[in-house]
Amino acid sequence: MKRNTGRGRWYRPVMGTVAAVLAVGGCSSSSGSGTGHTAATSASPSGATSTAAGARDTALWHKWGLTPLPVPPQPPADKPVKLSATGTVPVFTHLPTSQKVVFITVDDGQEKDPKFIEMMRDLKIPITMFLMNDAIKPDYAYFRSLQALGNHIQNHTLHHPVMSTIPLARQKEEVCGDQKILTKEYGTAPLLFRPPYGAYNSNTKIAVGECGPRAIVWWRESMQIRNMQYQAGDKKLHDGDIILAHFRGPSELKGATMTQMFANLLRRIQEQGFAVARLEDYIQSPAG
Ligand SMILES: [Zn+2]
Repeated sequence: MKRNTGRGRWYRPVMGTVAAVLAVGGCSSSSGSGTGHTAATSASPSGATSTAAGARDTALWHKWGLTPLPVPPQPPADKPVKLSATGTVPVFTHLPTSQKVVFITVDDGQEKDPKFIEMMRDLKIPITMFLMNDAIKPDYAYFRSLQALGNHIQNHTLHHPVMSTIPLARQKEEVCGDQKILTKEYGTAPLLFRPPYGAYNSNTKIAVGECGPRAIVWWRESMQIRNMQYQAGDKKLHDGDIILAHFRGPSELKGATMTQMFANLLRRIQEQGFAVARLEDYIQSPAG
């Protein structure tokens, strides 16, 4: 299978003002800083993860070497974030909630591992995909399979530029272009936008608002290969945190696969007792 080597133009070196955001891992090549131990995956007592909302299929989790995560609570009827159809788009690094949940976002789209679809089908963990057209255009259908599991597709530009370094007109081409293609390919207009490398400026907010998405979504943790990079000094997950991961394969993960990386991510979440909820269930779109 043809595999992107990670040397594509969306991995171009950047400098200056975006260096700070790169330090926390926004779509840069994996730093390989995750050198900690991998936790043992001892089985929990049968039924320990059951709640009124349902139960995990423990056998399917064991198939992937995992202990089931808690079933997430029902999302609040009164959404903690309500987006407006007009005005400056807000920026979120987390969502305000007192529920013990975190949200997983997966960016770009160059790795298209069939095993990851199988894993998501088995585990029923919600993800939000921020897709960049250059990465997904060889195989739009791959992401349709993930969408069919209930996962939402959001905007991440056509070509992955450093948005804060290009003029407004170019920024609009990037956001509106991806918006148009994603809407056509996946049948629904993205509500959210993530800037490549996390780099944005006031023109980005204008471009995003004019192209359709109603919020910019940043993150609090960035998944590497084994561990997460945390922005908070206590190096822990917190209620409502947004976690950044990427569609990456062995060439970007020092030989690890997408499913191995994702299993490590779920272990880090499980160790800290969090459930994974669906980001879009906590956000009210202007349409209601
Ligand atoms: Zn990216």
